[in-house]
Amino acid sequence: MRKKQFKAESKKLLDMMINSIYTNKEIFIRELISNASDAIDKLYFKSLTDTSVGMNKDDFEIFISADKDARTLTISDNGIGMTAEELESNLGTIAKSGSLNFKQENEDAQESDIEVIGQFGVGFYSSFMVAKKVEVVSKAYGEDTAHKWVSEGADGYTIEECEKDAAGTVITLYMKDDTENEDYSHFLEQYTIDELIKKYSDYIRYPIKMEETHSVPDPDKEGEYKEETAVEVLNSMVPLWRKNKNEITSEEYSEYYKNKFFDYHDPLHVIHFKSEGTATFDSLIYIPSATPMDYYSKDYEKGLALYTNGVMIMEKCGDLVPDYFSFVKGIVDSADLSLNISRETLQQDHQVKIIARAIDKKIKSELKKLLSKDREKYEKFFDVFGVQLKWGVYADYGAEKDGLKDLLLFKTVNTGKYQTLKEYIDSMPQGQEKIYYACGESPEKIALLPQTEAVKQKGFDVLCFTDDVDEFAVSVLMEYEGKHFANICKDDLGIASDEEKKALDEKNESAKDMLSEMKNILGEDVTAVKLSDSLGAHAVCLSSEGYVSLDMAKVLSRMPGGSNAVKAQLVLEINSSHPITEKLFGLFAEDREKFSKYAHILYNEARLVSGLDIENPTEFADMVSELL
Ligand code: ADP
Repeated sequence: MRKKQFKAESKKLLDMMINSIYTNKEIFIRELISNASDAIDKLYFKSLTDTSVGMNKDDFEIFISADKDARTLTISDNGIGMTAEELESNLGTIAKSGSLNFKQENEDAQESDIEVIGQFGVGFYSSFMVAKKVEVVSKAYGEDTAHKWVSEGADGYTIEECEKDAAGTVITLYMKDDTENEDYSHFLEQYTIDELIKKYSDYIRYPIKMEETHSVPDPDKEGEYKEETAVEVLNSMVPLWRKNKNEITSEEYSEYYKNKFFDYHDPLHVIHFKSEGTATFDSLIYIPSATPMDYYSKDYEKGLALYTNGVMIMEKCGDLVPDYFSFVKGIVDSADLSLNISRETLQQDHQVKIIARAIDKKIKSELKKLLSKDREKYEKFFDVFGVQLKWGVYADYGAEKDGLKDLLLFKTVNTGKYQTLKEYIDSMPQGQEKIYYACGESPEKIALLPQTEAVKQKGFDVLCFTDDVDEFAVSVLMEYEGKHFANICKDDLGIASDEEKKALDEKNESAKDMLSEMKNILGEDVTAVKLSDSLGAHAVCLSSEGYVSLDMAKVLSRMPGGSNAVKAQLVLEINSSHPITEKLFGLFAEDREKFSKYAHILYNEARLVSGLDIENPTEFADMVSELL
């Protein structure tokens, strides 16, 4: 019989398994059981709509047997089975999901990365961590012939026809020989198998059976024991989400999460709840501690796995979570849904909508709890996913803003720490009427803005907006507890005293001719040129008028089609007490040509200070050199 070769990428993973220095070899059993359970799911699902299958839920089982003499461990299921082609394509190539994701992430896996392997669904190949030879006998449901797939690892596999009565799969592992460092024999011990099934596969919904021998008191001989052999069910079969919270350890929650959702980090937070009332369902929701690896790719799908009465009907039901919670992972199990529900009808389904609303509410209230009870954890969460909540505030013209605004955090200039809007307002000194914010790359850069200085001098704090979405989010929020937001680089801050205002107005009035000439020279680039009293030591800066701020305009211009985006209406501000102002007056009176050059140079300088590009850098450089 001709040996076939594994596909290149499969071979790579296989090599990693065979030569694995991975210490947690025991997870192979979890992987094989999970495959068996999936295969039974498929046939069970079929049996619900196709009576010719002739099986009831109680007929399905997974059977384990160990033969210490032959050093074999066998795992059988009566699930859907595989045809010869399926054996070939499923076991000769890495299947989708876990294994493949892992492979892509770890293209250049170092030895230390190998520790990570076992935490993913590594699949069928993990059996080669403990077995020197693996035999798979399978008969697909509805087929007449069965096939046997055999492989001793790297040098390929064979497939031949064989005998098997019922549909299903029997996997036999020929265990490796024990070495000084590795004890493979213990995987053949009854108590080890018991323990591993409890640890990894307890929630599997079909019975995992094994013939077990125990010592029991001998009824015939007083004080003596005898060996008794019986088939026992090793797992409790209750899905994790149906168990009582107090029966589940955080380790179990984590194990389940990592295995089911292919993450090698522990989840940041687990929300396990039961809902009764308008919608009855059990739900287990996880907040990851890092962004899911494909989160920013277009293939990422939000959603929760949807079950009805313990049977999975959809792996990712997007309608169950709003976009701003697209990062959560989890499961919803409701008795109120029909098994035959399709993706299309789901969207219309009233019950699904009710469930989605309840889940949204629950996640929000959990986050609020976290915010008040475990600030450190909440800030960790916010560092990773806060930006999603801000987009949530902005989306749909602020339709969801009220439910999200109390979950927002911003760093502030004075504290350097995160504050909620409520905390900011509560610590506002007497006389502060607005919520001040400034946009910038980082809190450090914002602290250096000329405008920040002026606000700080009044004893007020400034929220740092460092994400693109921030200013858009507050533009739909408009106010918080009656306090309006003010961009310190744009809006009237309302902090100058009446005398200060009057003095500045007078200065502007007397410089009117010079300023309007400057505006003429700069043309469409600016809407006005003004003298300012709040620029600290800086000569010039740009501010804006109207709805679109400078920073919003920057964000918009970065978006697709951005060159046509709305532009900010720029105002060139000149520091009235800076020597440059005197200089300008002088030139305006004596040398109009030079005055015009100064206008251009100052405008471009202001663009640089505000983090904008200069439209014609060469011309700018030439003008500066000429004047030097
Ligand atoms: P994964 O489970 O991540 O898809 P595996 O390598 O574990 O990857 O399995 C590959 C494929 O082989 C499975 O998707 C399934 O189609 C098939 N398979 C594995 N074990 C069984 C089984 N016991 N019964 C039927 N099909 C199976």
